[in-house]
Amino acid sequence: MNLILLGPPGAGKGTQAQRLERSRGLVQLSTGDMLRALVKSGSPLGQKADAIMKAGQLVSDEIMIEMISDRIVQPDCANGFILDGFPRTVVQAEALDRMLADKGLKLDHVIEMVVDDAALTERITGRFTCASCGTGYHDTFKRPAKDGVCDVCGSTQFTRRADDNAETVGKRLDAYHRQTAPILPYYEGRGVLKRVDGMAEIDEVTRQIEAIIAH
Ligand code: ADP
Ligand code: ADP
Ligand code: ZN
Repeated sequence: MNLILLGPPGAGKGTQAQRLERSRGLVQLSTGDMLRALVKSGSPLGQKADAIMKAGQLVSDEIMIEMISDRIVQPDCANGFILDGFPRTVVQAEALDRMLADKGLKLDHVIEMVVDDAALTERITGRFTCASCGTGYHDTFKRPAKDGVCDVCGSTQFTRRADDNAETVGKRLDAYHRQTAPILPYYEGRGVLKRVDGMAEIDEVTRQIEAIIAH
């Protein structure tokens, strides 16, 4: 099964993708995570991406399309994948269609996570991640069972993203509305778009997604 989780920054895409990886054996393909790994590598391309991400803008379609087309042919994707953060423009959505058609693959569901803009700043500024296994947490909404210790792997090291500050969030939301939201009618017209209430609690969102993909 191949899925897209669509929604603004902080909607809960990564949180739900991590759950689907565990429950369904799908692979989470997060372009944000791929870009952060590239930034960490310190390569010239990584330095370029770093500046764009810190400014809350989108990395070029050309780079992103190449990144995903290389990734979905890897053997671990054969069981199915969850796209988290891609496509983010209509150009990327069209390129994805061509890539999938070339490989004889199809999209089963495109799931939009609907969240009010007002809630997103709080979600993003409270977000942190286990530095060891990548599990996502939140200062208020998803604290580890034991403070300072990852529930999944026991690590005591956590990270916060450089772009998760109130100032950049506004720019990222703006980019979402201008460049990414136009993808919604693209998928709606093809009858694959489903919606979940991303304002609900994390477990309830998971239930709504499970109900969609059970069909
Ligand atoms: P995205 O991948 O869409 O940017 P995340 O999954 O990283 O979003 O979620 C953003 C932050 O909000 C994280 O700190 C996460 O723990 C928290 N979060 C995710 N889903 C919910 C929810 N339904 N209610 C409250 N907080 C949530
Ligand atoms: P969030 O879910 O919180 O918006 P991501 O981790 O998906 O954040 O992305 C972080 C940043 O990486 C984005 O603000 C953007 O600069 C860049 N990025 C990620 N995916 C894409 C993409 N498909 N196209 C262009 N830029 C991207
Ligand atoms: Zn961990």
